[in-house]
Parts: sequence; C-alpha cells; structure tokens
Amino acid sequence: MKYIQEYRNPEIIKRILSEIEEEVKNYSGVINLMEVCGTHTMQIGKFGIRKLLPENINLLSGPGCPVCVSPNSYIDKAIEFSKIKNTVVATFGDMMKVPGSYSSLEKEKSKGYDIRVVYSSIDCIKMAEENPDKNIIFLGIGFETTAPVVASTIKIANSKKIKNFYVFSGHKLIPPAMEILVEDEEVGIDGFICPGHVSTIIGSKPYNFIAEKYNIPCVIAGFEPVDILHAIYLLVKKSIAGEGEVIIQYRRAVREEGNKIALETMNEIFDTVSSEWRGIGVIEKSGLKIKKEFKEFDAEEKFKIEMKETKEPEGCICGEILKGKKKPNDCKLFASFCNPENPVGPCMVSSEGTCAAYYRYER
Ligand code: SF4
Repeated sequence: MKYIQEYRNPEIIKRILSEIEEEVKNYSGVINLMEVCGTHTMQIGKFGIRKLLPENINLLSGPGCPVCVSPNSYIDKAIEFSKIKNTVVATFGDMMKVPGSYSSLEKEKSKGYDIRVVYSSIDCIKMAEENPDKNIIFLGIGFETTAPVVASTIKIANSKKIKNFYVFSGHKLIPPAMEILVEDEEVGIDGFICPGHVSTIIGSKPYNFIAEKYNIPCVIAGFEPVDILHAIYLLVKKSIAGEGEVIIQYRRAVREEGNKIALETMNEIFDTVSSEWRGIGVIEKSGLKIKKEFKEFDAEEKFKIEMKETKEPEGCICGEILKGKKKPNDCKLFASFCNPENPVGPCMVSSEGTCAAYYRYER
C-alpha cells in the first residue's frame, strides 16, 4: 500500500479541508467546480468528498464517462454492424447494457448475434487472425487515453496485413467539450478538475486556452482523496482570486508536454473531426476519424448502413447531467425505475457514470 496510504492520510486530509474552509469563510458566493473524468466522479462518491466540503463549494460532474457521452446514434449503428453476415462486434463490457434507441448490444447478443467483450482493441488482432472468414469490428470509444491504443492496433493490423479488422471510431476529445460547457452560462463553471488519465497523454497545454480566454482555473488532479482535495483547494484559491491558470497537481504522472509517442501515434492514424456527444450535440473538432490512408480499417467506410431515426429513453435526463445542469437525484427515475440492474440510461450503466456513482455512494 506504500504510495497509496500517504494519499489517504487522515491528518493530511484534515489539514487540506481546514485550508479550504479558511479560503471560503469570507466568500459569499457559490463556487462551481466540474470534474470531467468518470474516475474522479467515482472517487468523489467513494470517499465522501462532496459531504466533507463547505456548502458553498458545488461539485458538478461533466461529460467524463466515455460510454455515457456516446450518443444513441453510435449504439444503434454498432447494433446494425452486428447484424452483418459473418461479423463479430467486439467491445468493452460497459457498452453491452447501454440502451440505444431500440435495443442494446446485450439484447442483440441474446438473439444470437456475435458480440464479444474484449479488454483491449489489441485482443481483436488475434481474433481477426483466428477468424479469417469473419469481419471483426471493434467499437472504438473513449477519450485521448484509449485512442492511442486503438491507433496502435490499427498500425499492427496494417503491418500484419490483416484484412478483416475494422474500427468504428467514436473517440472523443475532452478540451473542446470543456469549452462548450464554459460558454454555457447556465452551468456557470468556476474551475475544472481536469482528468488525470487524459492528461497523461495530452499534457497540460491543451487546457491553456480555458485559463487564458475565459480566466477559469484548471487543475489536473490525481485520483486519491488527497489529490482531489488538494486540487479543490487550488481551484478555490484561484477562483476567489480571479486567476485563470493551469496547474498540474498530478505531477507524478503528468508532464506539460504529455506523452509524445502516444500523441504521434494518434495523429498518424486519426484526423480530428466534428463529433456528436450525448446531451451536448455536435461539437467541432471533438472527435477522431480514421485517416484516408488507413480507411480500409474504418468500419464506416467499409460497411454503409441506413439508419433509422434515434430516440432517447423516456424520462432520462442523462444529457442534462452530462452538462452539469442536473444531478441524478433530480431524475424521477433515479434509484427506482432506473438502477444498475435495469438501467434506463447510460449514466446508470457505466462503472464511471454519474448516476451509477450516486446510486452506489450518495443515495
Ligand atoms: Fe437516466 Fe437513469 Fe440517470 Fe435518470 S437515473 S438520468 S433515467 S440514467
């Protein structure tokens, strides 16, 4: 447990909390801080951080869960891909239960379609080699953290001349979504707890525009209670002082320049394009599409599919929750009709979803 206990040390936690209290004691307004990482959402719930804070610090959960931000149109298309003859759709486990407009991957699998759970896109290389008569379509979802691995998988498939492996890219980029939320006055963000995992790849520079253009502080935080509380302390201090600045709290993993090899790999395979986010809509330059040079691996280029109109689950306010405008307790279906066994929306399905976090830790 060495290297973990010091980040859960009660004495350090008490000290940071008293410094936060000291900072806000003469501040009359509410400070809205948004985390944009599903792991932070879960850790905040698990360690009861929300309840430890002074009342005028409001923690909001943003669009940090990859499964949750994938729109119904993506799920619907993935289901249609699974219906193509001699095709395997491979995906992360979290995607299986996510309801699309008319069904879910789990329901389609129970009807006999070949839908398999994998731990990594790399697993699909072996699957493609062992099943040369089948199309293997990997559902590429996730942020800058997973996109380099998927890019590497495409490079491996290319070097091995594999002809039956495809990626359905639904990858998303976090900073453009943060800008949309900053511009939404109804949300009123005073500071961002920036994602630790994403930032190990992109570094700190892509957040600079938020500090410079909008004067909003951003702190890249680790995932232990001391990390998160330290980040909150820094954000509160900067927000009250009216200073926009990007600070790396998670120094043990994040560098200003990010991971150059991962970024190069991602840029070699993907182009940046507009992308649809659940609840937010289409955001310019917020998605990744496979470059023309590698289009033989692009499932959307290979298999053209007519799609039906999409529809959202009735009563589900996931979209509003992903924008930080509502909390799970505001949803009439929360913890009654909608629960992890019978999820109505993706925010309850995913192990990183806000509704799942509240259900587990903050009911
Ligand atoms: Fe949607 Fe369920 Fe969350 Fe309500 S509790 S917003 S229905 S996922």
